[in-house]
Amino acid sequence: MSRKKQSFLVKNWGYLLLVLAIVFWASRDIGPGMALIAFLFTGAWMLVGVPVWCGAETRKGLSCRKNSYGLLLGCSYNQHRWQKLQDLFNVKRIREAFAGWFTGPQNRIAVCGLALSVLGTFVTLTQFLMALK
Ligand SMILES: [Zn+2]
Repeated sequence: MSRKKQSFLVKNWGYLLLVLAIVFWASRDIGPGMALIAFLFTGAWMLVGVPVWCGAETRKGLSCRKNSYGLLLGCSYNQHRWQKLQDLFNVKRIREAFAGWFTGPQNRIAVCGLALSVLGTFVTLTQFLMALK
């Protein structure tokens, strides 16, 4: 395996985990407990670990395209990290905050991944709780 391919896998392991979570969920032998854990980890990874563009709004009104990790976090500029977190808790700025989540193609894939993991968490959690009864 080439070095480039390896680092791609290392950077994107969360997507692999998402696929595994779905496999766990679909497999009758493994059960919803393992799938629930995998979905939870994937969701957390999308928020703080996935390689994406920063997406914070710059002073020129554009989206920052520096590399960063996680939809919730920003790039190496401290100001962008704070801005992204603050915008999420500001009613007037929440649209800009979420617009940043869709900055580039990687970001859109990550948002889809996050939506899938949240959905998967709810479905498997329900199944898990039903199985306990
Ligand atoms: Zn930035």
